[in-house]
Amino acid sequence: MTKPQKKLLFHILIGATSFLAAIALTHWLDLPQWITLLIYLAVYLIPGWSVLSKAARNIAHGQVFDENFLMAIASIAAFAIGEYPEAVEVILFYQVGELFEKIAVGRSCRAVSDLLDLCPDEATMLCDGVPKTVLVEEVPVGASIFVKPGEKIPLDAVVAEGQTTLDTAALTGESMPVSVCPGDAVCSGCVNVSSTVMLTVTKPAAESTAAKIMELVETSASSKAKTEQFITRFARYYTPCVVIAAVILAIVPPLLTGQAFSDWIYRALTFLIISCPCALVISVPLSFFGGIGCASKNGILVKGTNYLEALAHAEIVVMDKTGTLTQGKFHIVEQHAVGISETQLLEYAALAESASNHPIAQSLREAYGAPIDASRVQQVQESAGYGVSVLVDGKRVLVGNAAFLEAAGCKPEQVDCTGTQVHVAVEGVLVGNLLITDTLKPDAADAVKQLRRFGIRCVAMLTGDSASTAKAVDDALQLDAVHAKCLPTDKVRLMQSYRKKLSKKRTLVFMGDGMNDAPVLAQSDIGVAMGGLGSDAAIAAADLVILDDQPSKLGTAMQIAKKTMRISHENIVFALGVKAIVLVLGACGLAHIGAAVFADVGVSVIAILNAMRAMHRKP
Ligand code: ADP
Ligand code: MG
Repeated sequence: MTKPQKKLLFHILIGATSFLAAIALTHWLDLPQWITLLIYLAVYLIPGWSVLSKAARNIAHGQVFDENFLMAIASIAAFAIGEYPEAVEVILFYQVGELFEKIAVGRSCRAVSDLLDLCPDEATMLCDGVPKTVLVEEVPVGASIFVKPGEKIPLDAVVAEGQTTLDTAALTGESMPVSVCPGDAVCSGCVNVSSTVMLTVTKPAAESTAAKIMELVETSASSKAKTEQFITRFARYYTPCVVIAAVILAIVPPLLTGQAFSDWIYRALTFLIISCPCALVISVPLSFFGGIGCASKNGILVKGTNYLEALAHAEIVVMDKTGTLTQGKFHIVEQHAVGISETQLLEYAALAESASNHPIAQSLREAYGAPIDASRVQQVQESAGYGVSVLVDGKRVLVGNAAFLEAAGCKPEQVDCTGTQVHVAVEGVLVGNLLITDTLKPDAADAVKQLRRFGIRCVAMLTGDSASTAKAVDDALQLDAVHAKCLPTDKVRLMQSYRKKLSKKRTLVFMGDGMNDAPVLAQSDIGVAMGGLGSDAAIAAADLVILDDQPSKLGTAMQIAKKTMRISHENIVFALGVKAIVLVLGACGLAHIGAAVFADVGVSVIAILNAMRAMHRKP
């Protein structure tokens, strides 16, 4: 418990004890009315003073209708009609509820920030050969830092000395040990598992992967889900309405029926107390906060609670193939060189692809193996969905698919085979082709199955690749629709046609690897990108980032989104339901004020505890 919480508990305990003493005193002794009033007033102020002063302070700031105001009015009015013990009861119960609420909220905030505590505050930096502990903000780029086993990597860096394994669980949710050796880049937030390494810092603390992730999660709370906005708006109108209703209830029936005013004022007070919307105002945002926290714990960054809500209503999921469903790591299975050697063919391909970061380009460079002399390459032009055109040693080299070479006047022969054919032409003459294949990600089939289980009506795939490759993926995954040979513009058009197929209030998801996907991501309600660890472009473009590149994480995200929505709806229905019942009972004179406060406090506590469930996920 924090200090203010302890103080509140102390006030409650003293208040409760003196309340019991006051009851006993006034019961056994026949005291005059004014002394009884004084005794109860004194007891009332022990727990009540803070409520009165808070209400006064809020009114001074123009916020009239809050819970403190309601409780102050209710208890003062109870004094006015001579129900002294009830006045004390109202404040006592209310404060017990406040205490519970503060503890629960504090606890869940701590739980979420603990799991987001990716970055240590300090690093061990080498200053003139002597290790010194400094704040991470003070470590300059290029400095050498030591990380011992068991410690978190404090900053983005490359390994300078030593070998070790890293645990990426904090970032991705999966404890996949990755081994690194000198020259390898490491991300802040990973845990060093096996041995001490010396690192050279590559980015300042504010730009590190962990800092970016944390900033994202923290700002995610600012773009609010519709449900949250509804609750805020609701509270703004609801409380004044109930206050007006209470005033009418206190005045009109006694005027009409001639019954005692005190009776009806009492009912109006009960009515007022129940009207407190705090159960909703606190628990609904808390559930969304928990949902976002739970997603980040699983390696999924959600950029706003509105996306979590939209994801819960997803109906159609469109996916990219390369790098999303497949690994994006191509292997050469066949080579046909015409007029040049196979080594020369691969050399041309690798040189031409030297500036591209398309998965095909990366794979060809890797297959070539040797270092690439960039000075031999000039005038690089990449056509998305087609290929690249460059000058190698002054000769025009084209590397890409059949459509690309046809457009340039060559006529490559089309063979029917599974795999992606990469054609190479030099100075307008075909010099051969490379047949490359990609493998499905191990969890691709699982990803599609999960999506169906979470109520996705249509799982479609778009690819710029050949029809035969697309069919092979379809055979393995049993998708609902497959579109091959798509150019970036076709992808946008297809997304628009899928949007037309959506049912009312349902949403469209696009999941890609973040490579030339920006126009398509913009067409979707929720754009999901495979983040890779620290891939800035993907993190910037998407609404949801999957840090470990596993497509099945989309299912996990949907599970979390649905659970979060279910919890917040449960809270809304439960809180409003109980309130409605007690309101009616109160208006009919069947509910005691104590019962009303108890119902209000109880509902808040239960709703908050329920909201805290959103932080956890069943595997
Ligand atoms: P996907 O939809 O599978 O992500 P892209 O739209 O990125 O594919 O590319 C479609 C096709 O265009 C690829 O299958 C490949 O044949 C060709 N292509 C695109 N970029 C390149 C490149 N840099 N080198 C060779 N071929 C390329
Ligand atoms: Mg792609």
